[in-house]
Amino acid sequence: MIVDVITIFPGMFDGPMSASMVGLARERGLLELRVHDLRDYTEDRHRSTDDYPYGGGPGMVMRPEPLFRAIRAVQAHGPGKATVVFLTPGGERFTQPTARRLSSEDRLLLVCGHYEGFDERVFTCADLRLSIGDYVLTGGELPAMVVIDAVARLIPGVLGHEESAADESFSEGLLEYPQYTRPATFENLNVPEVLLSGNHARIAEYRRRQSVIRTARMRPELLNDAHLSDEERALVEEVLEGSLDCD
Ligand code: SAM
Repeated sequence: MIVDVITIFPGMFDGPMSASMVGLARERGLLELRVHDLRDYTEDRHRSTDDYPYGGGPGMVMRPEPLFRAIRAVQAHGPGKATVVFLTPGGERFTQPTARRLSSEDRLLLVCGHYEGFDERVFTCADLRLSIGDYVLTGGELPAMVVIDAVARLIPGVLGHEESAADESFSEGLLEYPQYTRPATFENLNVPEVLLSGNHARIAEYRRRQSVIRTARMRPELLNDAHLSDEERALVEEVLEGSLDCD
């Protein structure tokens, strides 16, 4: 996969995009990251990327001309045509299913905003507008890196064992079950006995039940999209009513 990024802070990508899974994906040639400085597409002496908002109001707005120029140039560079994604708090919420969908694209072009955001006309270039959550950050660089990280680890061959992505939180509309590693007892805190049993069927059953309970407690709205058995629906009711003793 090729990911192009348009930003006024290209240096922000250096460290985070060289470490861990994203770094590994790049080393393995599974991900090519091309970061473009928006200021290279300005034509004035000050290389300005912002201007005052029509109608007044606080702050500055990102000028359309450098953005259109940059997007067209990056698209023309190829290969093929990238799916253009704008990072904006007004976009649709970025979720694991979206990450999965984007991980099958050949090319993404992520556009990072700053100041008070984009001149509305640049969204005519957008295939998708994404928000990483209901809060406002200073710029689109961290959101772009969040998207790249979430997408890169789903590219086949990056994680190593693909089932770890299939088991993770949000994959089936459920949060992940609790995980433990050695030692079996730490300061009087014990690993659940079932996980030491070696009985794979019991372990799978325990983990599924824990996923359902945890999701009902922490993120009940996720359960609207989860496929649950009648027994699991009853378990959810118990959690929501607070009648489940302790699990
Ligand atoms: N005035 C804008 C608003 O109220 O929607 C906020 C602009 S924000 C200060 C500047 C830039 O940061 C945005 O254009 C966007 O690229 C990025 N940004 C901030 N928060 C974001 C979020 N939650 N998701 C995605 N991008 C975000």
